[in-house]
Amino acid sequence: MRSKLVVGNWKMNGGLVANAALLGALTTGWRAGPERLLAVCVPYPYLAQAQALLAKSPVAWGAQNVSEHASGAYTGEVSAPMLAEFGCRYAIVGHSERRQFYGDTDGVVAAKAVAALAAGITPIVCVGELLGERESGVTEAVVLRQLDAVLAQVGQGADRIVVAYEPVWAIGTGLTASPEQAQAVHATLRERLAVAGAGDVAILYGGSVKADNAGALFGMPDIDGGLIGGASLKAVEFLSIARV
Ligand code: PEP
Repeated sequence: MRSKLVVGNWKMNGGLVANAALLGALTTGWRAGPERLLAVCVPYPYLAQAQALLAKSPVAWGAQNVSEHASGAYTGEVSAPMLAEFGCRYAIVGHSERRQFYGDTDGVVAAKAVAALAAGITPIVCVGELLGERESGVTEAVVLRQLDAVLAQVGQGADRIVVAYEPVWAIGTGLTASPEQAQAVHATLRERLAVAGAGDVAILYGGSVKADNAGALFGMPDIDGGLIGGASLKAVEFLSIARV
């Protein structure tokens, strides 16, 4: 049986005081089990704080991006070995905001996944279609193209990734894919992962997940949890989603 994983993506939000309150509430309120995993992906400057406050808790932490390079003249970038030094278990790669605003191509996303794996960090590989792509009927082709680029580069590491299906039109908009729409894409992704020998990896759903829709989404057979943006900034709501 696959574990359920819920990951918070704080995006570019937070502050030392607010973070301490949020992380404190999570450590107090979360009881993990082998089938229930919780993590937060925080902005880089707060990794040390997350490490300090979460180290003795069952809540894992990670980053929202990672460089494809291990070291060198890449001003402003942060490498996977650096993230590993701060105890990161996860690094999100290929979030649609990175693809849209920072030019992360399929190839770059794949290289970032490889870099994360090499440092012992689980890449959370985001895939998802734009609204126009869904309306044109090319959703499956888009997400498979994005996934295939990663699978081609990670090789044997395919079973050490996490995949997050995030329809771009549902991120931060209040619109959510219906459980059936999401399940259909997850099943397609699972099929392709199985061919790569990675049929059991976690496939998360992301896009305006809230406490009141998480149950229906996470109840679908190929949805193994969620990547949660806005709702991960509110402890009570985030814990409710994680407890579904
Ligand atoms: C995200 O940022 O990955 C996300 C899913 O955001 P939201 O939950 O706010 O739609």
